[in-house]
Amino acid sequence: MSFRKILLSAALFTATAVFAADLPAVKILATGGTIAGTAASNTQTTGYKAGDLGIQTLIEAVPAMKDYADVSGEQIVKISSNNMDTKTLLKLAKRVNELLADPKTDGIVITHGTDTLEETAYFLNLVAKSDKPVILVGAMRPATAISADGPMNLLEAVRVAASKEAKGKGVMIVMNDEINGARDVTETNTTNVSTFKSPELGALGYISGGKIRFYKESTKRHTVNSEFDVSKLDTLPRVDIIYSHIDDDPVMAEAALKAGAKGIVHAGTGNGSIADPTFEALKKAAANGTVVVRSARVPNGATTVSVPKYTEAGLLESDTLNPQKARLLLQLALTKTSDPKEIQRMFEEY
Ligand code: ASP
Repeated sequence: MSFRKILLSAALFTATAVFAADLPAVKILATGGTIAGTAASNTQTTGYKAGDLGIQTLIEAVPAMKDYADVSGEQIVKISSNNMDTKTLLKLAKRVNELLADPKTDGIVITHGTDTLEETAYFLNLVAKSDKPVILVGAMRPATAISADGPMNLLEAVRVAASKEAKGKGVMIVMNDEINGARDVTETNTTNVSTFKSPELGALGYISGGKIRFYKESTKRHTVNSEFDVSKLDTLPRVDIIYSHIDDDPVMAEAALKAGAKGIVHAGTGNGSIADPTFEALKKAAANGTVVVRSARVPNGATTVSVPKYTEAGLLESDTLNPQKARLLLQLALTKTSDPKEIQRMFEEY
């Protein structure tokens, strides 16, 4: 190699090194799920082992991430997210806040099973104390499948986490080229890769044509504007969900109270309607200090004030939050107050 060539390659090397150092630092926190799942054959897309692969393997599978961010990984747990629990949720939230407080971190990606992805995302939306991007990502097909969706989802999640545009928009889920806000997103299909949608209220944006495109943001309080704080919490108050159906009777409500529920979310029919026998049990529960929130098993629309006797009994409304998200907000609300008026305010603001 001539001296001129050596100088040129040294200059190029330095330029690349400076460029890499200038990239945003994105930490990937891995929790398991299908995105880290493995199956015996590459055509198997159900009945696989979720959460099998470690974070380094996931990172090595997508070298293109390094073009957008200075990526590093950390394994939090290796679970199938149907087994997510309060202990793990709080551990994750505290680690997220530690990293966000570190000036060396510019954004966070969390790999997660899809089963409870929307719950973890909404919880973090309420307790993450920074406007730096926090992006959750999963996959519907295991890593070993042909046309696995995980690698592209992970790349796009890292790109969004490294982007300036994602700052201040709350916690988001990036999957299948869509960017959805944690509050409004829900899983809509048991197996299809296009499962995460924000029905009616819509996605915040897309990744398409090689670009991150945002079109809107939520008007609800989140992250830096949230009043909730998990830093001193080791557990959350028990809140149960009761799902309504024909022949509904108070058995489930009574069981929840017996188990020590401080709050109950009722997934009612229509606009949060309650069968009379269950209503009697919930009315009694509310009179005895258990906070009861009416939500709905119907996927769209807000649960609103309706039958006067519900209001007279002190039952609250979940707005557009589905029962599983209403449960998390009620848990956090109960860490601050048990005043139903205050808690109703929170349901209107978050
Ligand atoms: N059972 C898996 C989980 O939630 C499903 C998935 O990731 O898609 O971890």
